[in-house]
Amino acid sequence: MNSYNNEFLYCPYNKCHRISSSKFQRHLVKCEKNYPPDYKVICPYNATHRLSKSEIEEHINTCPMRKTVEASYIQLPRTTQRVVRAEQDDSKNQIDYNSYWGSQEEM
Ligand SMILES: [Zn+2]
Ligand SMILES: [Zn+2]
Repeated sequence: MNSYNNEFLYCPYNKCHRISSSKFQRHLVKCEKNYPPDYKVICPYNATHRLSKSEIEEHINTCPMRKTVEASYIQLPRTTQRVVRAEQDDSKNQIDYNSYWGSQEEM
């Protein structure tokens, strides 16, 4: 009776995809290859949160993972930027985080 752990989530790329939470991250890695690299932006607090550029700023303010992550990482913007860049390494596309966080660092 492990059904409680088997929560199903909807894929952010295609709402027709319904994936069990245990396979969700693996699915995202596969599914994102079918879309342009900047089609969805990865939430800095949780890699399984993918949002469109118009939604990401609001999501960053409301992300349920935010308090958890901020409690454990003091320098969140730098840490996040490094992770995001590493993941995007093979694509030369600039993603919005660079300007988003960059403008904060310069202040
Ligand atoms: Zn999918
Ligand atoms: Zn999030």
